[in-house]
Amino acid sequence: MRIVAIREASIRLQGDVANAVVSFAEHDVSLVALVTDVIRNGRPVTGFAFDSIGRFAQGGILRDRILPRLRAAKDVDLLDESGGAFDAAKVLAAGMRNEKPGGHGDRAAAMGAIELAVWDLNAKLADEPACETIARTFGRPSPDRRTSAYAAGGYYYPEDGPGRLRDEFAAYRDQGFTAFKMKIGGAPLADDLARIEAALSVAGAGANLAVDANGRFDLETALACGDAIAPYGLRWYEEIGDPLDYDLNRRIAEAYPGAIATGENLFSAIDVKNLLLFGGMRSGRDLFQMDPGLAYGLTEYGRMLAAMEAHGFERRQAVPHGGHLINLHAVIGLGLGGCECYPGVFQPFGGYPPACMLGDGMVRATDAPGFGLEEKDNLRPELARLAPEAF
Ligand SMILES: [Mg+2]
Repeated sequence: MRIVAIREASIRLQGDVANAVVSFAEHDVSLVALVTDVIRNGRPVTGFAFDSIGRFAQGGILRDRILPRLRAAKDVDLLDESGGAFDAAKVLAAGMRNEKPGGHGDRAAAMGAIELAVWDLNAKLADEPACETIARTFGRPSPDRRTSAYAAGGYYYPEDGPGRLRDEFAAYRDQGFTAFKMKIGGAPLADDLARIEAALSVAGAGANLAVDANGRFDLETALACGDAIAPYGLRWYEEIGDPLDYDLNRRIAEAYPGAIATGENLFSAIDVKNLLLFGGMRSGRDLFQMDPGLAYGLTEYGRMLAAMEAHGFERRQAVPHGGHLINLHAVIGLGLGGCECYPGVFQPFGGYPPACMLGDGMVRATDAPGFGLEEKDNLRPELARLAPEAF
């Protein structure tokens, strides 16, 4: 068994939304395909994945560094001991050959796309949903294929206002979501408080609404905002300052009574270890949002979970950034605390097909082999363009 073609395409995100720091109008995502010589129903078994959302496509790093190394690797060096599946850790090691430790940056997303495609591929080879493959490989029982999910949206738009935000969240509620997340920090505090009030008119209790500052705040601004929002009893206060400023995170954790969440911009297990040691995160309360698609894939993500558990935190405190099908399978397969979903933004990658929606804040993985990306109507054409022989 061998991989006969590896391809990458940069796909532009649809829409013109912004958080407190970046506009996504110019953002794109790397979609990758691993085409094998295994033929089923006249078509090659092919693994697909992408590098998550928010840090651009990584075609340059893939084409110039990672893909040539994988093409040069011996086929047998990428397979597991049975020879019937690919070994994600071996693929990661081969793709990272000759790279220095530390300074993870964009290569963590580039490698993440490839590593995740291995999981889609292995699940298709086993003819099962990826959550089953993930659970088995990490030594966990076959999972209940359901989990909770919250609707992430509430970005800043060129034409914006509390009414637009209310309508957006009402649409998510009509799709079956009961918990929501919105952006803050991109407007003056008084304006953001009005936006929070508008969102709460749909979300109901503060426990149903999280806010995300996308790393915008310095300590003084963060503490002032924390004081202002504390009375709402919100679900969590997310990525408050610079992702690597663990001292700031600790000081906020000491002052803010509710849950805080961070980690989506940490790309290695060592970075997470430092957050655990120095970030003041509170066991049983605060949330970790590392994203396999931005951090070398599930092999490294497993190391992050091990670090969390070694420091007295529970995997239920892990709620990955992402909002798409790949992380839905990761959450279910690894028994994590819940899932983000982008039901309205970051198309064609964000959100799930209708068959995943169970209502009352719950979602499921379908029986589709792999991550089920082919079941997403607006993503399937992109997959077929990248690997037409698989369709
Ligand atoms: Mg965030």
